[in-house]
Amino acid sequence: MTPFTTQSLESALTAKLMLNFGKTPEEATDQEMMKACALVLRDVMAMRRVEVKKQIRRQQQKQVHYLSLEFLMGRSLMKNAYNLEVLPQLREALEHLGFKAADIFEIEPDAGLGNGGLGRLAACYLDSMTTLEIPAAGYSICYELGIFKQKIVEGQQVELPDNWKDLGAAWLLPKPEEAQTVQFGGTLREFWDDGHLHIVNENATSVLAVPCDMVVAGYGTDHVNTLRLWDARSTKPVDMSLFSRGEYLKAAEEEAMAATIAKVLYPEDNHYEGKSLRLKQQYFFVSATVQSIATKHLDTYGTLKNFHEKNVIQINDTHPALVIPELMRIFIDEAGMDWDEAWDITTKSVAYTNHTVLAEALERWPQSLMESLLPRVWQIIQEISARWQQKVEDFYHDSAKTANMAIIWGGEVRMANLCIAGGMAVNGVSGLHSEILKKDVFRDACSMEPWKFQNVTNGIDHRRWLSEINPGLDALVKELTGGDDYLLQPLALQKLDAYADDKAVLERLAAIKRANKEEFALYAKKTRGVILNPDAIFDVQVKRLHEYKRQLLNVLHIIALYQKLQDDPNAITHPHTFLFGAKAAPGYAVAKRIIRLINSLADQIDHDPICKDKLQVVFLENYRVSLAERLMPASEVSQQISTAGKEASGTGNMKFMMNGALTIGTLDGANVEMHDVLGDENMFLFGLHADEVSRVKREGYVPQRLYSRDDTLRRCLDALRHGFRDGVSYDDLYQRLLFGAGGSPADEYLLLADFDSYCQAERRMAETYADPMQWNRMSLHNIARSGIFAADRAVAEYADNIWHVPHK
Ligand SMILES: *Cc1c(COP(=O)(O)O)cnc(C)c1O
Repeated sequence: MTPFTTQSLESALTAKLMLNFGKTPEEATDQEMMKACALVLRDVMAMRRVEVKKQIRRQQQKQVHYLSLEFLMGRSLMKNAYNLEVLPQLREALEHLGFKAADIFEIEPDAGLGNGGLGRLAACYLDSMTTLEIPAAGYSICYELGIFKQKIVEGQQVELPDNWKDLGAAWLLPKPEEAQTVQFGGTLREFWDDGHLHIVNENATSVLAVPCDMVVAGYGTDHVNTLRLWDARSTKPVDMSLFSRGEYLKAAEEEAMAATIAKVLYPEDNHYEGKSLRLKQQYFFVSATVQSIATKHLDTYGTLKNFHEKNVIQINDTHPALVIPELMRIFIDEAGMDWDEAWDITTKSVAYTNHTVLAEALERWPQSLMESLLPRVWQIIQEISARWQQKVEDFYHDSAKTANMAIIWGGEVRMANLCIAGGMAVNGVSGLHSEILKKDVFRDACSMEPWKFQNVTNGIDHRRWLSEINPGLDALVKELTGGDDYLLQPLALQKLDAYADDKAVLERLAAIKRANKEEFALYAKKTRGVILNPDAIFDVQVKRLHEYKRQLLNVLHIIALYQKLQDDPNAITHPHTFLFGAKAAPGYAVAKRIIRLINSLADQIDHDPICKDKLQVVFLENYRVSLAERLMPASEVSQQISTAGKEASGTGNMKFMMNGALTIGTLDGANVEMHDVLGDENMFLFGLHADEVSRVKREGYVPQRLYSRDDTLRRCLDALRHGFRDGVSYDDLYQRLLFGAGGSPADEYLLLADFDSYCQAERRMAETYADPMQWNRMSLHNIARSGIFAADRAVAEYADNIWHVPHK
């Protein structure tokens, strides 16, 4: 199964360098060597792909198509080498050829084609689908610029473009012969022919979608799958001088559209921005994908009538929801089916994953935009909407429910309702989240069609997030659980529980964490010039910056600790380092203010001698997959403190748990399921539960009362107004918490309501840390019970309960 020995890898790399750059290994730069590595591994995977495609066709296997506007892949070199089981050989070959393997891995840019959890989930699932030998493909856009690079300048976030493709494109295989044409705008003309009504779109603006395939390897298998990233090109020839005036303008329009559509990833996480370019991106990648699937299906089966038997389309949130009308368009306009048949096949082919209950994240496209940009799709959506509305009326005879479940309403197209109507399954991403969908957000739809509503709790690629990035822990796990089993059977991690009272094992666990902390401290010093104390508790909150994730609650507690230290320099017995990492959406002003606040506080603490070797705050710039990979193994405390009911699942929480960090968290998202397996005794729970949050809000929440009642809280809120040594006041944040601002209510996310409970959890945590054996035992239990959060488990559930495809 191993495609290379060290020697054959050396020869392959040497040959690649010569063929591509005309250089010997002695002459090649690190960049060139990185590309050569990518090309050599890509060749192996591309050859395997040929075999896989033959097999899919020969055995007429059902295929899974995972559509997501985001795939946060991160780096691929170490991952592919790991999955191909040539990582040790690659390291050795690189050293033999005179390179530092670590430098070659480090030079690879992250493929940052996503914002946060949703995009990273898609990447983890691609790995598991491949490892489980499911014939599957991911589909997205080949953004020229991924998620922006974050710089912190004078405490504030500055966004820089992320040109990842210079080196990152080495993984991509362009397939110009499989290009598809996607049409925008134009006018519809209807005519009768052969007793059929035909509809053609005239004067549309066409954009060429060219696939760039990234082949991905699975672990312990020869199976490979592809991530198909669509690039946009103009359909017109380069020489526009040949064109008549009218065509010239059309050509210019197409040039402009092609140049912008795949330019940049929208950097908003959990937030809907009704921008027309974003709708163009959605239809561009959806239409190209559906056409490409339908073309291949026709090529194999000669008909689309069995489409649903051989294909299933999973949509990651509503962003690809246009697959529903696009499938209808192809079935009706291109395959000549009648409405009922087309609808039957469509609704047996598409499944929808919901990722959020936040109102501001729900997509609602203006119908005027739909109509002008996608006239035929708009017609089809109107018909879907009318029939759905009729069905709802016939079922409920209740105008409130009709309004609630409508697809087109108040001049907007509600994409979630379209997905519910046009999908065979709707799933939430944790037990709690799925319950909230069923009982609250989609209550009416769920009473009408209960069979559609499911739960699949998120998971992470445990091979990447434990085995690959934490070699020390990986070795210990393998030793204690009897070999490599856990790599394909993550529940084997449970065997670690047997060592809960084994002092030697607990000490080794502690030593591994200590070494990882030292390594991270070295990295932070080298790259950022930050001095971290490896004796300190590494207490970490890394995730997108969002008010509901409550980084500000973490800050309030740190301010309280700092003030306590002012009163009593012995208040902190063990050094405590708080690490933050978070990108804020460029237009999200409050989030950016919170980043600045973290930096102001960090600066204050840095300059106060009382805090030396006691308290430190560090903001890690440009949080991304490759930084998470360095940080998770070194983390001891995982902050998962969202307002209960707001975080759909979280996956960062799982990465921490798997690497032995203890969680301070609310009963939100997948924290609930972590608690189910860990119990109260192995995590630090605090705060209101989801139902209590609803009740508090319903009964009228007045944060000023807490402010006047609680001295600690009042003092630390007042500190926001006065600011710190840099002289910046955070009165705006103070006002938001106590009185509300800009249409949002006072303390919308209930920070003040949870503040005291949070401080108590922090105290319990610090007390536990003072008992190393107890801490290490809890850490061991966290690792041992993290197996259920492997993406392999989640993907197997999708395969069994939604996709109905076999898997390993
Ligand atoms: C896992 C991951 C996330 C998701 O983190 P949450 O805490 O679940 O929001 C976001 N960004 C990156 C880079 C990740 O690796």
